[in-house]
Amino acid sequence: MPELFIGGQWVSAREGGRREIRCPADGQVVVEVDEAGPADTEAAILAAREAFDHGPWPTMPAGKRGDVLLRTSQLLQRDRDEYARAESLDTGKRFVESQYDMDDIAACFRYFGALADVDAGRVVDTGTPGALSRVVREPVGVCGLITPWNYPLLQTSWKVAPALAAGNTFVLKPSELTPSTAILLMRTLTEAGVPDGVANLVLGAGAQAGAPLSEHPEVDMVSFTGGLATGRVIMAAAAGTVKNIALELGGKNPLIVFADSDFELTVDHVLMAVFLHSGQVCSAGSRLIIEESAHDAVVDEVVRRAQRIRMGGPFDADADTGPLISETHLAKVQAYVDAGVAEGAVLRCGGARHTEGDLANGWFFPPTVLDGCRSGMRVVSEESFGPVLTVETFPDGDEDAAVAIANDTRYGLAGGVFTPDAGRGQRVANRLRHGTVWINDFHPYLPQAEWGGYGESGVGRELGPTGLGEYQELKHVWQNISPAPAGWFPHRPE
Ligand code: NAD
Repeated sequence: MPELFIGGQWVSAREGGRREIRCPADGQVVVEVDEAGPADTEAAILAAREAFDHGPWPTMPAGKRGDVLLRTSQLLQRDRDEYARAESLDTGKRFVESQYDMDDIAACFRYFGALADVDAGRVVDTGTPGALSRVVREPVGVCGLITPWNYPLLQTSWKVAPALAAGNTFVLKPSELTPSTAILLMRTLTEAGVPDGVANLVLGAGAQAGAPLSEHPEVDMVSFTGGLATGRVIMAAAAGTVKNIALELGGKNPLIVFADSDFELTVDHVLMAVFLHSGQVCSAGSRLIIEESAHDAVVDEVVRRAQRIRMGGPFDADADTGPLISETHLAKVQAYVDAGVAEGAVLRCGGARHTEGDLANGWFFPPTVLDGCRSGMRVVSEESFGPVLTVETFPDGDEDAAVAIANDTRYGLAGGVFTPDAGRGQRVANRLRHGTVWINDFHPYLPQAEWGGYGESGVGRELGPTGLGEYQELKHVWQNISPAPAGWFPHRPE
């Protein structure tokens, strides 16, 4: 069966090639798929346009769209393990993590399904008898949705679910490295009752398959999650046709630890914050900023436990973490570690690809701790997106210094603060210029809360009630409900 999904049909690419997807854990071929060229993406855009302009989806009662999303959620739960297996083979991620992701994905569709008909807009008091003023919510139109490889279907669901709930049609372009669950999703959406042409899928590399989504005049909105450099390219390309735009970009996320923080809690969360999914998490807590007097004990223990983290393939039940996504990505992570050492950081553990035993066939990079870091080092200021923790310190008792170091970044996606002092926790959280801040915790998020970056971490918000808002236009409608000659112009000739 061909793998592009356009206008409700599975079709082959007209002008792209084929790509082998290999599992990053062992290099085995998982699947081979068609890749779209610009003409294929244009066909998908036109199918989405037709479905938006003439199809039933944008104008059907919002509650009925919500029902389709709720059905999608149920089907995703029914097929949880099939999806999780496909996701793990594409990414190398542990199967159990992919299963958790599926629970979050089903919850996302459930949440936006329930939200679909909650807010129809509002009526505004005009102060003018005989005039009516309404602010209504309308779908934006055709959405180009571009997603990364680290949480392939989760990032996709954060876009597809609100876009559908609001009545849009879309063309999805997942990462070329992880297409499998996007293919499955088209099948599920169709089974749930999404009409032909509403959901379209093109696969392939960004420059060929993705670029038309930010340039084509028939696309009304582009929503992108991925790296900062790509985000800039997309924002510039979208300017040509002044599209609505939402960008969820990278992060270089600080985790501030005060010396009064509970030792076990701190060590446990520092490890989880940065090494979850081998650091390939946009909100990874990759910058430890620790009060000087706590440094030695905490960092020694973090290093000791980091060295005991067990790497393995997706179905190795004893593994704590998996591989990096690709050889190219591994080389990038290695370059950041090398740059850190060259700039004076002290390598405490990890630091080079694992090349022994079964893992030698995959892209495994061990948990790495770089001590003695400072703002301005490349490995501190740029996102390595790997299992690399940098350690900086601040003088004892100097809350201002901790905040200043944590805010010394062009990014602003997420951050954490560890202290049992509730007042200090809130104070610091208020001062961090980051879109999500955790106090004595790291990583949890809720679909009903907001997700979005400050600074160069993004534009617009995903999730939450305003997550749906990104996919809606707000329109003010003023209506004179008793039109009559106003007679305002006594100078008008009779
Ligand atoms: P990437 O920017 O390389 O690619 C992301 C997507 O953009 C892929 O589908 C790619 O094919 C496509 N693309 C590339 N060039 C394009 C172009 N010119 N036009 C259109 N599409 C194009 O990112 P990645 O390596 O896949 O993902 C990792 C990045 O994603 C990290 O920086 C991470 O922080 C970020 N991320 C952010 C969030 C968030 O919520 N803020 C979540 C997950 C990942």
